[in-house]
Amino acid sequence: MPEQAKEQCSWTGCARPPKSLLIDRTLCLEHFLELAERRVGLINQALQDSSEKRSLPQDALTFLSAVISQSTLLTAEARLLHPRLREQLLDLSTGAADLYKRVRRPPRFARRMLCILGGGIVTPKSPVYCVTVNISQHGACIEVTSPLAVDRVITLQREDNKNFIRARVAWGKQQTSNTFWVGLEFLGQEDFWELGLPNNDRPSITKELAL
Ligand SMILES: [Zn+2]
Repeated sequence: MPEQAKEQCSWTGCARPPKSLLIDRTLCLEHFLELAERRVGLINQALQDSSEKRSLPQDALTFLSAVISQSTLLTAEARLLHPRLREQLLDLSTGAADLYKRVRRPPRFARRMLCILGGGIVTPKSPVYCVTVNISQHGACIEVTSPLAVDRVITLQREDNKNFIRARVAWGKQQTSNTFWVGLEFLGQEDFWELGLPNNDRPSITKELAL
């Protein structure tokens, strides 16, 4: 418990002793769980949005790491904790840790874009077309009809504007008997998909915390 913790949980009307500190709020165990689960749920929801409108709170990472460290501390401290609460804390901390990893990854957008594969692909007489499953600032997942070796460097050309970029095959996964999904990492920094991702003007969780 922090030294300057108040005598009471800061939740309006709650008289239980505070057990944790979450973004400057001292909370009892129950209200820590309630608040943390709600916010983690909101971040999770925002992450499900695979459109360009996806908007994550700016301080999502700070918030998640606070949840992870607090719930880990509480689980370790509270030996006499009710098994249900203990389980809830564990779920919260593993859920937050998983989200933390996902938030750090650049966002992927579900978008079908027709592209042409080239460079290093067995000299085709006709262009090898592929379509994207999803795209991100520095890569894409594409659907192809035959597998591509991991680490192979290829070029990806957009059908619409004919721009191309070099990319490394990061992973591959068979989807059906004749379709494969291939993860590409771009070797250039340009905004190939013209996503122009805005990073400002996103709501802050800290500000929303006032209840
Ligand atoms: Zn409380």
